Amino acid sequence: MASPYSILFEPVKIGPVTAKNRFYQVPHCTGLGYLRPRADAATRAIKAEGGWGVVSNQETEIHPTSDLSPCPEHRLWDEHDIPALRLMTDAVHEHGALAAIELVHNGYHASNQATRAPILAPSDTTAHSVGPRQARAMDKSDIRALRQWHRAAARRAKQAGFDIVYVYAGHRMTLPQHFLLPSCNDRMDEYGGSLENRARLLRELLQDTKEEVGETCAVALRFAVDEMMGADGMQASEEGRAIVEHLAELPDLWDVNVSDWANDSATSRFAPNEGYQNSYIDFVKQITSKPVVAVGRFTSADAMVSLVKKGIVDFIGAARPSIADPFLPAKIQEGRIEEIRECIGCNICVSSDNLAIPIRCTQNPTMGEEWRRGWHPEKIEPKGQEEAALVVGAGPAGLECAMQLARRGYHVTLAEASAVLGGRAHLEAGLPGLTAWRRVADHRIYDLQQRGNVDIFRESSLSADEVIELGIPNVFVATGAKWRRDGIGRHSRSPLPLPENFPVLTPDDIMQGIIPPPGRVLIYDDDQIYLAGVLAEKLCELGHEVTFVTPASIVSPWTETTLEQARIQTGLINLGVQIETGQTLSSVGSEGGVCVCTYSGREKTIPCSSLLLVTEKIRNTDLFNALSQRQAKGTASLQTLELIGDASQPGLIADAVYGGHMAARYFEADPSAKEQAYYRRELIELETEV
Ligand code: ADP
Ligand code: SF4
Repeated sequence: MASPYSILFEPVKIGPVTAKNRFYQVPHCTGLGYLRPRADAATRAIKAEGGWGVVSNQETEIHPTSDLSPCPEHRLWDEHDIPALRLMTDAVHEHGALAAIELVHNGYHASNQATRAPILAPSDTTAHSVGPRQARAMDKSDIRALRQWHRAAARRAKQAGFDIVYVYAGHRMTLPQHFLLPSCNDRMDEYGGSLENRARLLRELLQDTKEEVGETCAVALRFAVDEMMGADGMQASEEGRAIVEHLAELPDLWDVNVSDWANDSATSRFAPNEGYQNSYIDFVKQITSKPVVAVGRFTSADAMVSLVKKGIVDFIGAARPSIADPFLPAKIQEGRIEEIRECIGCNICVSSDNLAIPIRCTQNPTMGEEWRRGWHPEKIEPKGQEEAALVVGAGPAGLECAMQLARRGYHVTLAEASAVLGGRAHLEAGLPGLTAWRRVADHRIYDLQQRGNVDIFRESSLSADEVIELGIPNVFVATGAKWRRDGIGRHSRSPLPLPENFPVLTPDDIMQGIIPPPGRVLIYDDDQIYLAGVLAEKLCELGHEVTFVTPASIVSPWTETTLEQARIQTGLINLGVQIETGQTLSSVGSEGGVCVCTYSGREKTIPCSSLLLVTEKIRNTDLFNALSQRQAKGTASLQTLELIGDASQPGLIADAVYGGHMAARYFEADPSAKEQAYYRRELIELETEV
């Protein structure tokens, strides 16, 4: 019988090239880029191996006036950049995929911090990132120069072996889009004013690129049809549509999305549904005969088929789903749908780019480690001499460790204290907006349940004696961490003076269903990552009045890296949460929390009838310590005793999964192998000077 998904595996022509199927990894950053080209090529190669018909690279700066430092994207400033990109095209071609390059001039989005080159824009304006240097309006000679840079970069892209060359007008990050937007362009010449004039540069770049490489390479246009700002920005129903009509047949492929990046890469917390961009982009195919690709955190094969059959897209675009599971296409093709490691929409991958560090992913701990550590998402060394392992704790770390050990062929016993597997992945998924995080546990539990070499024991809180009685010589302790109840955190290294009978709660209490007494709750967020903001929402849902106090100057500052901060603070304001920033909690009195201004030291009392402290975690190491002591005394003789996940170092769920993976990978390996990977670097060749 034909597969219900066979339509997804039809070849599709894009100008002069043909993709082998409809799976299209759209451009996305990796934090590897020109600084780590071998690592970047290896990451892309895994996607091609996993079945993606098209594998794109990331923003590729065409000139030093588009310098995104300190973020290491890609570069094609001159011919010296070709060999680094060639690594990727060769690797991708080996697996029968097409390689695409996203040429970019970032205009005033690039602040040219390293090059100190002029910052270019359609009109004089302050630059995108906060800094003293403004962008200047491009004159005609600048525009002519830009066109030449783009042509030259397209030529080099072809030399580097790319099959698809992008012109990029999206995410509010690129010059051609800045020219399109009236809010960025108040020019009076033929590049400003009417839509035709504002689209002139984009049209010219498309024509130039086609002239330069169009015979052998497809020319793609990445275009944001809607800024999601209502009448204050470009709307798909008006100018977005008009531009598609204006340029309809010019590109060989339309890669359409919404702008800015926070809207395009919306997290599941704010865009819970797969296909959240469909209603913005669904008109495009009615206007052009050229193939269309769109994204929307697609992981369901049925939804993909329906999108193609309904004539909304020709290609299923993906960045994050391809990061979480590079083998998503192969799994669909082989009927292994249940094995897909679905993206949870947490944007930890995005945070890496914003921090200018190599990519990482909550669901896929091998992402970004393909070259440095030689990790493959689907393959792992078979077991060595040892036969069995015990994993204590079934949170993200324990589940990942158990799953990988089982894949290696050990007999795995997994013991979990509670009735439900998943640890914090299960508990946090019960909070508003985080339902999809449950996938971290679901994927691993499903995998473990398929295997004959795994025993899972729920409601089994193990003591050291019980562990020893089990007689399993290799023990991985993944017992997690709990939130502090004493207020110790970033701003206080000693316990806060708290009155004896005052109700003090922790995130663990709320997640376990303990509800604060009636009255106003003061949430004190000295953690400053994401959880306190989510808990504020939860308490509002439960009908509490909430005051959110933080020493930071904004709510949940870390979430700027996941592109969520503005939405979080807006959401809390709209829920009526009283927000007190720049305040450090110093004690609690009969009137409420006594807070000190972080800057002036002035004191004020914030009324409340209970306190929720989100400050720091304490590692649950009792079991590990007890076992270690027995080992030291000689009353236990374990071969392996390893502490992993939050019990070893509290952090993100992504860190716990990574820790669990690492422990399983290196079990029975040469101990130096783990260390050596830190030193595997791509060093600058000192003899080469360009
Ligand atoms: P991590 O993020 O490191 O995986 P979690 O806190 O999510 O940590 O998970 C730790 C899990 O370990 C929890 O589900 C907890 O119930 C379980 N656990 C803690 N102590 C024991 C124990 N002694 N025996 C079995 N399970 C335990
Ligand atoms: Fe998806 Fe999160 Fe992985 Fe990014 S880090 S791909 S959002 S699971």
